[in-house]
Amino acid sequence: MKLYSTNLQAPEVSFETALIAGQAPDKGLYLPRSLPPLSEADLVSLKNKTYPEVAFHVLSKVLEGEIDEPSLKAITFDAYNYDVPLEKLNDNTYIMRLDRGPTASFKDFAARLMARLMQYYLKKENKQITILTATSGDTGSAVAHAFYGLDNVKVIVLFPEKEVSDRQRKQMTTLQKNITAIAIDGKFDDCQAMVKKAFSDEELKSLNLSSANSINIGRLIPQSLYYIYAYTRLCSYPEEIIFSIPSGNFGNMMGCVLAKTMGLPVKKIIASVNENDEVPSFLSSGEYQKIVPSLNCLSNAMNVGHPSNLARLIAIYGGQMDEQGNINKIPDMEKLRNDIYSSSVTDEETKSTMREILEEYSILIEPHGAVGIKGLTDYRNKTQDNTLAVTLETAHPAKFPGEVRKVTGIDPEPPRSLKEIEEKEEQMDFLDTEYVKFKEYLLAKIR
Ligand SMILES: *Cc1c(COP(=O)(O)O)cnc(C)c1O
Repeated sequence: MKLYSTNLQAPEVSFETALIAGQAPDKGLYLPRSLPPLSEADLVSLKNKTYPEVAFHVLSKVLEGEIDEPSLKAITFDAYNYDVPLEKLNDNTYIMRLDRGPTASFKDFAARLMARLMQYYLKKENKQITILTATSGDTGSAVAHAFYGLDNVKVIVLFPEKEVSDRQRKQMTTLQKNITAIAIDGKFDDCQAMVKKAFSDEELKSLNLSSANSINIGRLIPQSLYYIYAYTRLCSYPEEIIFSIPSGNFGNMMGCVLAKTMGLPVKKIIASVNENDEVPSFLSSGEYQKIVPSLNCLSNAMNVGHPSNLARLIAIYGGQMDEQGNINKIPDMEKLRNDIYSSSVTDEETKSTMREILEEYSILIEPHGAVGIKGLTDYRNKTQDNTLAVTLETAHPAKFPGEVRKVTGIDPEPPRSLKEIEEKEEQMDFLDTEYVKFKEYLLAKIR
């Protein structure tokens, strides 16, 4: 597999290099030059396979020659040891629950596989790295859990002491072993600034700091697998399917684009967004305008005014967008509009959808999943297209207990993974926002 940068100013690299580096040196995002086709025989043979079996089959094609098969198989089965339920809403609509991983959001799918692939390459080269990450809550816990217990990686998570919920904090502070949580007496932006400064600090070069952030190609490829899995559960080739994806940085949706590129018969990809409507506006007008600052909506993991994966989408459709969001080459807008429908959902619509789904189907969903369902409804109302559709529930309702309670009156029961941490002992270090002290801390901690 050869990967190129969306900024087109960096050399092509191997999968291993792209995975460990994250971002390309020209600040672009890595994309595979080509992907292997998924044939009818592949899709038919996967029909009765389990999730890890489907994932391994597809990954062994995509990563052929990049990693030996027994290792890839072990990694895949170790990463995907939880359920992926498809819940029927009605004859042509299913909800795929991506909330059964250890941190109860779909980010577990990407983080767990990426972590294990990184560990594989680091071990082979006898290298150690330290993942340094700042979090406002959810990403930090998914990353920390994903790397937990792996030998060649240490993780240091900085979080704003007063801005995370008890549950979010406990997901980071109860792990221990190779995971260190630091409560910062400051805001998320302070944590982010300290981490950025450490990355560019020459005196910390010997510490092998890495970021594992959301633009890593190692997080995108795993996000194509559940679309293929859902298709093989519900469809017979060459039947078509629709996916509705609650989107913020558009990493999840790019996973679906990759699956479609490989040949999965996806009729329409619905990118459902909250009131941050820069993408639906771009699709309808052809003009791209970031939303700065992004709007605060109920589905808060999707409050993004300039999605980091947009440059990848534009590249796949023949255009070029730089890291600032300037479009230097216009993509094939007609093809883009044909493949992707994007709908903006207001907070009021999000709430009424949560209530409707509860009343009509007795199913409790959280705000992000509700945006996905409403986006699908919008598409169906507009097109009368009744093709079978799968809409994604990207987190467990118990991750957003306050919002869910307020809208539906129901206290969501936390899954076992979230409940277990309630009793575990917490351990964390405390720092203020002074960089010099943070630097001394890192030097002492990592040596
Ligand atoms: C991160 C997140 C999203 C948005 O996913 P993107 O890949 O950034 O589009 C949606 N829902 C939940 C619960 C999330 O945590």
